[in-house]
Amino acid sequence: MQTHPYPPRTNLFDTVLTYPNEAFRQKQGVGMTSQRTRDRLVKRLIELGIYDERVLNAMRQVPRHCFLDEAMGSRSYEDTALPIGYGQTISQPIVVATMTQWLLADTDHRPMKKVLEIGTGSGYQTSILSLLIDEIYTVERIAPLMARARDVLNDLQLSNITFNLNDGHWGWQDEAPFDGIISAASPAKLPEELISQLKEGGRLVMPIGEQQQLLYGFEKTATGVKETCLGEVMFVPMKQGIEA
Ligand code: SAH
Repeated sequence: MQTHPYPPRTNLFDTVLTYPNEAFRQKQGVGMTSQRTRDRLVKRLIELGIYDERVLNAMRQVPRHCFLDEAMGSRSYEDTALPIGYGQTISQPIVVATMTQWLLADTDHRPMKKVLEIGTGSGYQTSILSLLIDEIYTVERIAPLMARARDVLNDLQLSNITFNLNDGHWGWQDEAPFDGIISAASPAKLPEELISQLKEGGRLVMPIGEQQQLLYGFEKTATGVKETCLGEVMFVPMKQGIEA
């Protein structure tokens, strides 16, 4: 059940935005990377149905341009996926918002404190999660992408993130169980291991499929797994093994 108002309060943009720390304030950008440009994107997300103010606020705060090549700077606040090298892409903002909102829904009644992310990529989704959730564990299979994401997230002084270069098909057994799992890579079918690494009441949100993909939310209950389809998406494939 939806526990947040939709549309969100109309005065959301009236108050002065506070940044999580000094690094965020310094990296807020100018012109095409300014707070105004970021706010325009967030207004678009509201039009598209995002209602959770925690998510909207985090997306207002995070300087997405810091996760992209400088040449891409002017496009950072378009609602599109963009290349980050190694054949991978930064996730589309509306998809990041949808997945995060679904993960955090109903947190009055169940905790969402420890989350596993599969597919760190640029680290953009990781940063949003980092502002909203106590502990983030993130797995990436391409070493240079993980290294770059780690640097950007360190520069933003986000310190509740633990990184792992690994194949996310297998989750992160040593850190399980998780309250939530989120994947930015799409496997052909659900890796059952991920369900087994969720706590009871925990949530998994991820794309499934190859050429045609659907975004699914799974809730682990005492009696089984409840599945919700959240719409059509296009993510990079979940691949096997690691790349140095
Ligand atoms: N949320 C990220 C999305 C990056 S694209 C962002 O906004 O930047 C998805 C990422 O998943 C890619 O970096 C890709 O290398 C990674 N990936 C693909 N298969 C994987 C696997 N089996 N384990 C871990 N990461 C994987």
